[in-house]
Amino acid sequence: MKTIIILGGGVGGVITANTLRKKIGKEHKIIVVDKEQKHTFASSLLWIANGTRNEKSISKQLDNLKKKGIEFVHGNIEKVDPQNKQVTVNGSTLTGDYIVVALGAEISDSFDINSKGYNLYTPEGADGIYKALSQFKEGKIVVMVTSLPFKCPAAPYEAALLINSLLHKKGIEPNIEIYSPEVGPMGVAGKRLSGMVRGLVESKGIKYFPEYQVTQVSGNTISFKNDVSANFDLLAYIPKHQCPKVIKDTDLVDESGWVKVTDSKTLTTKYPRVFAIGDITNIPLVQGKPLPKAGVFAHYQAQTVANNIAVEITGKGSLKQFTGDGMCFIELGDGKAGFAKGNFYAEPMPAIKMFMPGFHWHLGKILFEKMFLSKWF
Ligand SMILES: Cc1cc2nc3c(=O)[nH]c(=O)nc-3n(C[C@H](O)[C@H](O)[C@H](O)COP(=O)(O)OP(=O)(O)OC[C@H]3O[C@@H](n4cnc5c(N)ncnc54)[C@H](O)[C@@H]3O)c2cc1C
Repeated sequence: MKTIIILGGGVGGVITANTLRKKIGKEHKIIVVDKEQKHTFASSLLWIANGTRNEKSISKQLDNLKKKGIEFVHGNIEKVDPQNKQVTVNGSTLTGDYIVVALGAEISDSFDINSKGYNLYTPEGADGIYKALSQFKEGKIVVMVTSLPFKCPAAPYEAALLINSLLHKKGIEPNIEIYSPEVGPMGVAGKRLSGMVRGLVESKGIKYFPEYQVTQVSGNTISFKNDVSANFDLLAYIPKHQCPKVIKDTDLVDESGWVKVTDSKTLTTKYPRVFAIGDITNIPLVQGKPLPKAGVFAHYQAQTVANNIAVEITGKGSLKQFTGDGMCFIELGDGKAGFAKGNFYAEPMPAIKMFMPGFHWHLGKILFEKMFLSKWF
């Protein structure tokens, strides 16, 4: 009998657990540990911000996993000992034969942002944005990326476009600005795609300020490293991301501050039978930038790792590799979305194609959300 401990019940964790459960017998134990009692489907936070979802409609109880024969332990992971495959939760120690680290990126508010600023990456913040927009009559809206890296490279641009669409519907002429330390939107996908996304944003009258690194937020004023400042009447910001401390305290982390995988196709770490997937990893690509932090990668990596653990345990099937394939819907507002798809491990540059935007991609994103929340819980 083997025990597989999955750290985190986010995208990577729940897909690892479900995929493994289908592939190995019930005599083997699968345990998911998370400090939250529910999984919130993060892609849909943007739809909380435009009032088309609420937190309940995009969340599922992690306890639901129990019906599938997956144990769920609710608690803060306090210590991870990858060498001995031991994890301390709520003061108790769990020992496994395999560990899958899927703790994502921890977000923190590094600036003292006043009551007109909302964290787009939490359900409360996204709801705050919608409530503020409901009262909004005039003024400037700023969407700001506080630091790199951040998960979902499309999110700030989608947020600005959705806000733009919502205000137009209310008969308000929007005044929206985006500030980001990036050189351009979604730069990892190449200059062409980056230029297309920038073009989509600017064609709506949204002003884009790349390479703006915030240093301070005071009242309604943001100061940037280049000595420029900007005022706002409503601020939607993307907070600082970091590797969760419990893993930062281990030697799984390299100089990037994130977990190093020893093989980007099988997601192994320096310790045998310890894998790391999703946002917590740093996977450098050939052109020097890291693989973006996105659910689609956590998803495919989870399926790869689950398959390979099952093959090792059962001796059946064949080993798989994560190929670097990814895809992304890009919400544009007015019921439309774009879609980009390709291979991020392609050399010398990721090979990504952007498809003609339309209503069908927006419907595709809705279908994906419904499928995700029903299939894995
Ligand atoms: C607004 C927004 C829009 C997005 N849109 C898209 C999109 O369209 N497409 C896309 O591909 N990706 C999107 N993403 C990114 C996607 O949500 C993440 O990349 C994905 O969730 C990463 O999966 P993960 O399993 O690595 O981490 P997560 O899903 O973040 O899961 C990590 C889990 O670990 C738990 N945890 C952390 N520390 C501890 C601890 N010490 N003890 C116990 N539990 C702990 C957390 O509670 C969490 O449940 C979006 C993200 C946001 C915020």
